Amino acid sequence: MRSNDGWIKTTCAYCGVGCGLEARTKLSGELEIRGDKSHPSNYGKLCTKGIALGDTVIHDGRLLAPTDNRAPEAIELSWDSATQIIADKFSQLIEKHGPDSVAFYVSGQLLTEDYYVANKLCKGFIGTANIDSNSRLCMASSVVGHRRAFGSDTVPICYEDIEEAELVILVGSNLAWCHPVLFQRLRSAKQNNPSKRVIVIDPRQTESCDIADQHLALKSGSDVALFNGLLSYIAGNDYIDEAFVSNTTNHAEQALDSAQQEEDVALVTGLSETQLQRFYHDFATTEKVVTIYSQGVNQSTTGSDKVNSIINGHLAQGKLGKVGTGPFSVTGQPNAMGGREVGALANTLASHMEFDNPEHLAIVKNFWRSENLALRPGLKAVDMFDAMAQGKIKAIWIMATNPMVSLPDSDKIRKALHTCEFVVVSDCIADTETTRMADIVLPAQGWSEKSGTVTNSERRISRQRRVLPSPGMAKPDWWIVSQVAQKMGFGHAFNYLHEGEIFREHAALSVEGNLNGERDFSLIGLTDLDDQDYNQLLPQQWPVTALQSQVVNQRLFSDQRFYTPNHKANFIAVRHSLPQSATSEAYPLLLNSGRTRDQWHTMSRTGLSARLAEHKSQPYVQIHPQTADQYGVRDGQLVEVRSTYGLCQVRAEVTRDVQPDHLFIPIHWNNITAKGAKPCELIAPSTDQVSGQPEFKHTPVNLQPCQYQSTALFTSRHVINFDDCDYWARQKIEHGYLYHIESKRSVSELALELKQRLIYQHGRVFSMESGAGGIRYHYMTVKNDKVFQGLYVQPSMTEDDIEWMVNNFNQEISEAMAGIDNHVHSTVKRLSSKTMS
Ligand code: SF4
Repeated sequence: MRSNDGWIKTTCAYCGVGCGLEARTKLSGELEIRGDKSHPSNYGKLCTKGIALGDTVIHDGRLLAPTDNRAPEAIELSWDSATQIIADKFSQLIEKHGPDSVAFYVSGQLLTEDYYVANKLCKGFIGTANIDSNSRLCMASSVVGHRRAFGSDTVPICYEDIEEAELVILVGSNLAWCHPVLFQRLRSAKQNNPSKRVIVIDPRQTESCDIADQHLALKSGSDVALFNGLLSYIAGNDYIDEAFVSNTTNHAEQALDSAQQEEDVALVTGLSETQLQRFYHDFATTEKVVTIYSQGVNQSTTGSDKVNSIINGHLAQGKLGKVGTGPFSVTGQPNAMGGREVGALANTLASHMEFDNPEHLAIVKNFWRSENLALRPGLKAVDMFDAMAQGKIKAIWIMATNPMVSLPDSDKIRKALHTCEFVVVSDCIADTETTRMADIVLPAQGWSEKSGTVTNSERRISRQRRVLPSPGMAKPDWWIVSQVAQKMGFGHAFNYLHEGEIFREHAALSVEGNLNGERDFSLIGLTDLDDQDYNQLLPQQWPVTALQSQVVNQRLFSDQRFYTPNHKANFIAVRHSLPQSATSEAYPLLLNSGRTRDQWHTMSRTGLSARLAEHKSQPYVQIHPQTADQYGVRDGQLVEVRSTYGLCQVRAEVTRDVQPDHLFIPIHWNNITAKGAKPCELIAPSTDQVSGQPEFKHTPVNLQPCQYQSTALFTSRHVINFDDCDYWARQKIEHGYLYHIESKRSVSELALELKQRLIYQHGRVFSMESGAGGIRYHYMTVKNDKVFQGLYVQPSMTEDDIEWMVNNFNQEISEAMAGIDNHVHSTVKRLSSKTMS
């Protein structure tokens, strides 16, 4: 799929929108990126993260070789010996303690082919279902909601429905930042059709509210009460689609009874009767309604019930299976949907088949020719790490994810990995908090190097293609897993030579026992792809009955037939209940967490882009002005946020976007990019009882300002350890890094301390102390007549100071010196230049 002028079609590495893009290498070696105008998910549009993908393919910090970290000095391994060590250790532990003593923790960043092979090895040949994905943190509650309502994990709609809808409701979704291209499609559709309405349901005022006709800033965790109120309103005002409900659904009465018992929805949600009536009337009287929901719904101890409360409203009026209407769970990760398709969650089998169905077990067992198929669900993510901490899981293989940063209660995850006898981590980045815990680390290919498929939120399968060669010894994840499987004695089932073979097998499994549409997920039209077809595969939206050579936009359930035993959809009776954690005198504030616009997950990739770092350069907490006043916090000041689990140090952003007594911290920063700024240190490991998805949106905390006396900016070509400082955060800039530092020490003490970190071997050092009493210290080291390092220390920094330091870095020294004159207006006490040896 390389065009004559060198463009290769592939897909974005980040969110579940799954934008198609084109990449080509410039003569300079840089990777050029542009949107793929022919891709039906984005039609050429990309967001800031997608556009900046070319910045992130640099090899800074790449993991280049398999390494054994068990000895005091890490030992580089060949692939043969690394995979042999893993195969031997897993086999020994399985023989001694049984298959449930090992586990896999995988990721929505994996390609479907990688996911398929890992799931096949774990469930089909090792014989345990202890494989779970970090998608557990993202959309497990939606999977439960879909399966309970539809009998299958089916996203019924396609993106086109967002454009076709007359009313789009965003629930717990900051689409503008988390799924920006979908938001762009929604915004354009609204501009083209002024009668189209948007309602945002979110405790926070987010950028998504910019196009909202109504913003319902409900109380945290009260969604079920809100949507039960909707169901009662629909029933009480004769808006029920009686024909649809009686012919096509089960348990409507029970759900309605439950909804009607919901007391005082206004009080529970904190919304006025007028707001509620307007929302309910709008929903009930509009034919085409799409309800988009995301982490604000899923990441909750009542996430599954929230999902079903939304679906109940759609079922009551038959609002699904038709153009422009339906509930829509948008996924966070690029291939969360692919993971669901192959079954790489601990409680699903494979290819949308289930453990509790003997027919499904027989189909998978026969298809894989497995003697040892796992027959029951395994441990979900949080339970898996609990079992590890208790010594029950003795070996884990973590692929393409960073649980030390992303799972709640980081301290417990640290202890679990310490307790675990054998930890294997495959990643493309060398230094993450999780690779630091590994016995064996394996270099996996990264985006732009790997090849396979991903499925986006609208069930569209797209090729992710190889664009660049892999550095060092990096290999595809499917290849690494297959090598280990072969050495464990399962070679006959894992002798794949190409990712296309794996895809064909995955497609063939989707057809087994499914010739009459018994299951939703079918790739029957893709089972005969040869290697060339696979290489040239255009985006395909499942179910794929025949190879799609044109764009297809299809909805499921248009035949009003569901995948339950009687083919009717299920209403689920749900009731509002309070989140598991409540505020108290000691922890009176509520912490919410989520994404910023320009960073992704734990920043291991987006953190490499200087332009992405400009949007939010340091970890921060949003605080309402009233709360800031109450706690004596100034805008821009560092604060400490504490929960019963730990503490987090972040910079205050005082804003009315959050409610009084509510805080919001982004999830991205961690101990690699800042000191003590990881929100997962604060978050309780409370989960939804059905989905196992942790609560990330409702943590009781308290707050206090940090009392620091001095600040510093340090620019460097290389990563430097500042852990002995009270606070530091690292920002990628052109040609290097900018460190933001704060300290309890005086300005002169901090200057003296940081001066030791300057590398003087590179020629000259310029130093300057200015202002009355030496309140500013500025140093530059120079290499090849350019600023090699810069250090600036003073009581506090302004945006101008930061910009000046960034601009100075890597500049010709003569220009940098001129800049000093312009920047520093105070009296220059001393300016000296020494030649260092
Ligand atoms: Fe990538 Fe998502 Fe942005 Fe599209 S919207 S370019 S998939 S991050």
